[in-house]
Amino acid sequence: MKFVDLHSHTTASDGKLTPLELLQYAKEKGLSALAITDHDTIEGAIEAAKYTKEFQLEIIIGVELNTVWNQREIHMLGYFVDPDNPRLQEQLITQREMRIARSEKILARLQELGIALTVNDVLSELNFNSARDILLPHIAELMVKKGFVSSKQEAFQRYIGKGKPAYVLPTALTPIEAIKLIQESGGVAVVAHPGIYQEEGLLPDLVEAGLDGIEVYHPDHGADEREKYAKLAKSYRLIITGGSDFHGEQEGKMFHGDLGSQAQFVAEDIIDQLRTARK
Ligand SMILES: [Zn+2]
Ligand SMILES: [Zn+2]
Repeated sequence: MKFVDLHSHTTASDGKLTPLELLQYAKEKGLSALAITDHDTIEGAIEAAKYTKEFQLEIIIGVELNTVWNQREIHMLGYFVDPDNPRLQEQLITQREMRIARSEKILARLQELGIALTVNDVLSELNFNSARDILLPHIAELMVKKGFVSSKQEAFQRYIGKGKPAYVLPTALTPIEAIKLIQESGGVAVVAHPGIYQEEGLLPDLVEAGLDGIEVYHPDHGADEREKYAKLAKSYRLIITGGSDFHGEQEGKMFHGDLGSQAQFVAEDIIDQLRTARK
């Protein structure tokens, strides 16, 4: 019996575990294959792939690209991307620069709202080396730490969540550009957790652009959403994938899902399906 998780994060983005710790945890959970899909970086996945033999675990180099469609953030998963592809490498650097510019804007807005935090505060307080990117959850974490809010949820609901006073829409690829980029890098493009966006017009656009699959199984999808997206995937002849979106614990609670939590739903031959879909 194959036990697969196709969506996980490491400290290379906003996960709590280092790539090595994540692999140890994957072994503990009895996984046979794991895709590492950090936000806009493949560094964690590359690091983990070095241990494939040692852990006897199939490690899939993946990425979760941040994209914007109709002023909404849409996440696009890429599996089996070639880490040496120059276009991909270049775009990941661009995405990162855009992300840094965005965090600076958010921090400036927070400043105007009386919440004085600098990039350096975030980096040093959270023990990041200066090269580390700052993502929204990191800002929320520091707002809690400094006592500006009592929980990360409050930080999002009052300040940095979509539509809130310090929210800044990211500048990023469109999901259609992301699909092309992933496929040109030898990868397979799967739209992440569509139930989170609830955008009816999105899927037809993505299918038109050559989307390969839909993440039907995700901890934030209820039974209704699983059924809805499984049906849609079948009607569009797309691959049905799933993963836990594992980040580790935040404030004592599991963020999204525990590693392997969606594996029961995921087809045994899913990795073959993805591999075959490569163009
Ligand atoms: Zn996501
Ligand atoms: Zn994710």
